[in-house]
Amino acid sequence: MQGLEIVRDPEDADVAVVNTCGFIDSAKEESIQTILEVGRLKTEGELRGLVVVGCLSQRYGDELRRDIPEVDAVLGITDYSRVPQLLDHLARGGDARWVNDTKGGHLAGGAEGAAAQLAQELATETGGELKTADSDLTRMRLTPSSFSYLRIGEGCDHTCTFCAIPSIRGKQRSKPIATLVAEAETLAATGVRELVLVAEDSTAYGMDQERKRLLPQLLDALSEVDGIEWIRVLYAYPHTVRPELTERLRDNPKVVPYIDIPIQHISTPMLQAMKRGVSKEQVMRILDRLRDEVPGIAVRSTYIVGFPGETDQDFEELLELTRDYRFERLGVFPYSHEEGTPAYELQGAVPEDVVAERIRQIMELSKQNIEARNASLVGQTMRLIVDHEHPDPASVGLSGPAVVARSFADAPEIDCSVHLLGSHRSGEFVEARITGVAEYDLLAEPQ
Ligand code: SF4
Repeated sequence: MQGLEIVRDPEDADVAVVNTCGFIDSAKEESIQTILEVGRLKTEGELRGLVVVGCLSQRYGDELRRDIPEVDAVLGITDYSRVPQLLDHLARGGDARWVNDTKGGHLAGGAEGAAAQLAQELATETGGELKTADSDLTRMRLTPSSFSYLRIGEGCDHTCTFCAIPSIRGKQRSKPIATLVAEAETLAATGVRELVLVAEDSTAYGMDQERKRLLPQLLDALSEVDGIEWIRVLYAYPHTVRPELTERLRDNPKVVPYIDIPIQHISTPMLQAMKRGVSKEQVMRILDRLRDEVPGIAVRSTYIVGFPGETDQDFEELLELTRDYRFERLGVFPYSHEEGTPAYELQGAVPEDVVAERIRQIMELSKQNIEARNASLVGQTMRLIVDHEHPDPASVGLSGPAVVARSFADAPEIDCSVHLLGSHRSGEFVEARITGVAEYDLLAEPQ
């Protein structure tokens, strides 16, 4: 890349780029912690430059430059194509002191002479525009070779009252099907066997281009790509899961019968306050349809607990849903109070200890659901995809080499794993018999 070499350890680098997330408090804290840790290396003379990119810098660019003096340049969700030029400049000891986000590029103060000229040039040429929904083929993948995320669009047209994402990432822009097929072909050629489709709202794919929901057509096109064996859909918006999509989940052998459908809540007053555009009855109809139309489907969802005004009754409805519907996978998050969102102005904050207790109760129920499902799988044969070598087989009672694998019901990085005995390559599919349970995970041996 333009004479630059990528190294994995910041201590071996001349210049570091920290990619940030900034949509809820915990993500912001983690990002700031990382910036401070890398900034320390700069203070100690190990690094010559520190550039911060991504959502946090889109949201708080000026503050980052002002409050963390180790940071040389800040880029929002903009075009990164000239980052190499900036890095080269910093690696040679140059000073950029530059902020560039969709509010436009500008100097953050302190840049003079050639540095000011470069900063101005970069800011003018790359500033002001949101990242376009183009091919991401040139990105560096950090995931194992077995799977790859495939971002099918950028931005979101919804206005959920708790969410800062539309204000950070802008309106929905779908990538063309041909672009995504080309990306999938290239990924398959590097050994990727599973595509994990992501977007802010994957079921809205295509709406910005043709006013049509084109996710089913995209799934058809991607399943024609040689080498791709599994395709998984994350971030489906509840009331836009249409029969054309469930048909693919059921009938297309490459589309795994799994869906991630973040419902956020189930009580109608909460759904209304969150501006989710659906009632409890509508969400239930969709959840029931998934079970009816796709036999054996694994359904993942996420809840937000402690939204302003959440009553005991609202929470009871969430508990009841967890008990009755038995989501195969479930994530539960405390409400995060985000400035700039409509919910920020709402009264009725739920005390932290109440939120923590509510989350505990839901997680306990969810654990019981997963344990019951896991127990029912022992003795069955499943097709697994291998991700990587097992770091410590003895820790789960396996003697001998093993790998970390997944079933169709497990999205990488967020769901459960299967600890599979034997040596297998990343990306290999193995028919395996489930031999036992290790907390949330399963144990297996090749059939
Ligand atoms: S659909 Fe998702 S990304 Fe879009 S506003 Fe709602 S929570 Fe945010």
